[in-house]
Amino acid sequence: MGNAISLPKKLEHLVDPLHMSNGLTSVFIEVLAISGSILAETNREKELIIWLSQRDQAIVGIGTVGFDIDEMPWTVGCFEREKDFILRTITSAMDGLGWERLSYEPRKEWLIKCLEKFQLMICTFDKENVNSNCYLEWSENEEDDDCPTIPIGYPRCEKHDIYLCCHGCILCNNGS
Ligand SMILES: [Zn+2]
Repeated sequence: MGNAISLPKKLEHLVDPLHMSNGLTSVFIEVLAISGSILAETNREKELIIWLSQRDQAIVGIGTVGFDIDEMPWTVGCFEREKDFILRTITSAMDGLGWERLSYEPRKEWLIKCLEKFQLMICTFDKENVNSNCYLEWSENEEDDDCPTIPIGYPRCEKHDIYLCCHGCILCNNGS
């Protein structure tokens, strides 16, 4: 039950996996999607948020959205900037950036604990462990032209002003 976020095997001894209930996972992804959508400037930054938003349990299935940190679409060339962006996204999410866009009040104590652990994992993750194929495979997956993995032009939800992924808006899909 639930979802786990882990460092790649080589680094797992440094920070053990983050386990979350299904409900908590949804809140976790939603606050990061909001915060990241507000902060993203470059296309790579927008894409990291779109990738996270794709982990939408309402669409892909409850308890199926766990991932390893090296599966995220990092690029070797911009890794430091991308890492800094994700860390800022986490910090701002902890500060409640954009939480008013949610239709519910997150349980702060649990959520902050999870975000702190995710922060520690991202801090620990380094360029040597980036798997460039993950970004390439993900971004080139456009077999279905009606629904590309990365929506063309980086459209945002009209209601929630967050980036849409191939599943649409994670907040709309989950009732906010
Ligand atoms: Zn929306």
